[in-house]
Amino acid sequence: MTRARIVICEFMDERAVAQLGAAHDVLYDPQLVGDAARLRAEAGQADVLIVRNLTQVRGELLAAMARCKVVGRLGVGLDNIDLAACEARGIKVIPASGANALSVAEYVVASTMMLLRGAFASTEAVAAGQWPRAALSNGREAAGQTLGIIGFGSIGQTTARLALGLGMRVIAYDPALMPDAPVFAQTGVQYGHLDDLISASDAVTLHVPLVDATRGLFSAARIGQMKKGAVLINTSRGHIVDISALSAALRSGHLGGAAIDVFDAEPLPASAVLQGCPNLLLTPHISGLSMQSNERVSFMIAERVLESLK
Ligand code: NAD
Repeated sequence: MTRARIVICEFMDERAVAQLGAAHDVLYDPQLVGDAARLRAEAGQADVLIVRNLTQVRGELLAAMARCKVVGRLGVGLDNIDLAACEARGIKVIPASGANALSVAEYVVASTMMLLRGAFASTEAVAAGQWPRAALSNGREAAGQTLGIIGFGSIGQTTARLALGLGMRVIAYDPALMPDAPVFAQTGVQYGHLDDLISASDAVTLHVPLVDATRGLFSAARIGQMKKGAVLINTSRGHIVDISALSAALRSGHLGGAAIDVFDAEPLPASAVLQGCPNLLLTPHISGLSMQSNERVSFMIAERVLESLK
């Protein structure tokens, strides 16, 4: 295509935007996602639409995208895109596979270590002249603990590499991998059936896409199967962990901690279920976002979009 119209409706590294702009006509407006009518009008003129995870590429928006041939996704989860409808309309969807894996993996390992050690919530007490040394002296080292990874794709495997470097034992489950898949021998990760993994792990981390088979995967029953004192990390998607059951398990002391980066509704409305919940780290869907990953994701999408327009 000679000069295509590219509409970018969420934030992207500006040097990657300039790379696209050198060859094509680009509208870069990171606020556009918040104005549904203007987004539909601009997307209707676009040959390429570039989104993050806020833009819902389905329904009325997709119907308006009469010229669109390519959707670039600045990230990896594709649950905000109606893939079947895109395919039916001949729209190619390009994700930034692997480009934010390290950022998520570092978040998982950092939160696992903080939660196992349990010693980092003492700032207010120490500054106020208290000295809660005895209460905070029984944290766990990560080395020797078992990390269970559910979903052993790009992020799961990167997390395993970091955890093994800390001396953790790592078990992984993924329905796309047989127990004798070479990746287990190559990485030193043990294969585990889902139920065995959940009951054997000191920390469980989820790296699955949101699809029918994973919706509700971490139900009250599965949380109940976890070891007493274990920690749960969810950076995958909302709707995968039952948040009410998680809160109850933290409040009762069955779980030792949790870190949750993704929610059923985002932004998360004020939640009585989560407020005041002990040993809980909450972040606003940022585990995949870092200076470096934003750069990698943006340039990967710019390059793949340019390639698709040749
Ligand atoms: P990936 O496609 O490389 O790996 C996903 C793996 O999950 C695949 O190996 C797949 O076989 C496996 N899987 C599918 N269904 C499963 C099931 N029922 N049980 C167990 N495993 C199952 O994807 P990735 O790059 O590792 O990303 C994983 C997910 O993480 C994305 O789909 C996205 O939702 C989420 N994510 C979140 C952030 C964030 O900022 N919070 C950033 C990046 C990705």
